[in-house]
This record gives sequence, C-alpha cells and structure tokens, in this order.
Amino acid sequence: MFAGNRPPPGWTIDSGRLAEDPRVVGYIQRNCAVRGHCQQRECRRSVYLALDQMQKDGQGLLPMRQVLQTLRCNKLNGCSITWVEEPALKPTLGMITHRDHIAIEVRCTGPCKTPTFVTTVAAFIARLQAAKTGGPDTLLSKLAEAIPEPCGKCKDTRFWRADVLWYDPTQSQPLGRKVPFWKQELDERLQEARFRAAEKPMEPGPPPAQPRRSRRA
Ligand SMILES: [Zn+2]
Ligand SMILES: [Zn+2]
Repeated sequence: MFAGNRPPPGWTIDSGRLAEDPRVVGYIQRNCAVRGHCQQRECRRSVYLALDQMQKDGQGLLPMRQVLQTLRCNKLNGCSITWVEEPALKPTLGMITHRDHIAIEVRCTGPCKTPTFVTTVAAFIARLQAAKTGGPDTLLSKLAEAIPEPCGKCKDTRFWRADVLWYDPTQSQPLGRKVPFWKQELDERLQEARFRAAEKPMEPGPPPAQPRRSRRA
C-alpha cells in the first residue's frame, strides 16, 4: 500500500508530514464514506455523500470541510448535524516500516515546551510493544493515544501529538538541502548509537603481575 517514495493516492505530504488528502477526491481514493445525521427534533435529516457523483459533477477538488459546512442546516437556532467518516483504508505503523525517508515525530503540545523528538518507525513500534500499548497494527491516526508514558515535563498524556515525517528522496528539499533537517539529525544519532554499541568494554585481563622483590641478603 505504501510502496514507493510518494504517499499512495488519497494521502499527501503536508509540511513534510503524511496527511490525508482533504479534498473530495482524496476521500474517494481512500474509499472513505461520509454520512451525517441531524439530531434536531424538527429536522432529523440524514445525509449520505455520493462522492463518485460529486466528482462527475466537477466537485472532486473541493475541500471536504467546505462541502460539510455547506450542507449544514440553514436554521436560526443552528445546526446539530454530526458527520461520520468511515475509512475503508486504515494505514498502520506496519505499513511504513523499513523506509529510510519516513520517521515518527513526537511532540507535546502542552504548556511544557518540551522539544520535539524524532525516532525511527521501528524504534517507535518497539517502544509501544514493550509497553503493550501498540505495535505494527497501530493505526497512523492513533499514534498519540498509543504513547505509553506521560510527558516528562508536564506529566500529562493528553497533549501528545505524533506525526509521520515523510520526504521524497528523489526530490530536492526546501532551502536546497538534500535531506530534511530531521533526517540529518536522526542519522547522526543512529550512527552515534552504532559506534557506542561497537565500542566493547575492555576484557578484564589477568591481574597485573606483582613485581618480584629481589631478595638480596
Ligand atoms: Zn438539521
Ligand atoms: Zn508536556
């Protein structure tokens, strides 16, 4: 599903992060159904979006947000329509492992201002597996919820945000870089860790021989 350097149809790279294509055509490509129901007693309207027909009518490039906003009830006391999206294609962590140009960015959006942390997909999976909060089957849309521990600074779990960093290695990056900044840093850290692992502690040898005192009478 996620073969190649570019995200599959229905997904896009937004500011270097994997994102769902927010347009009607993106919903079609992700096989995502959209339905809505208005709870208001005098309305009770049910809406099911015929996405294919919308595309035929030339509305494929409209942002879904705009479509849903337009379909709200035009009533003086507001609208209580709730929309439900039923995605058929649910990308998981397991689908994006072993790709050099993809990583996970974890940050706390709370008041603590803890710096952003970038890690490999494999390391992120291992962390979730160790804590039994997730693994390869964890949905990319539920990464933040699977982070086991609270933020070290603000001691809160509610502010986690985890994004999939993604760049296309066949395309040049902003500011003329070959690879994005996070990738350079991550590679340096990984290399350091490999060096440290290679530096085996010295084997304890035999105790140093005691210098023999010459016995001179
Ligand atoms: Zn209504
Ligand atoms: Zn925090």
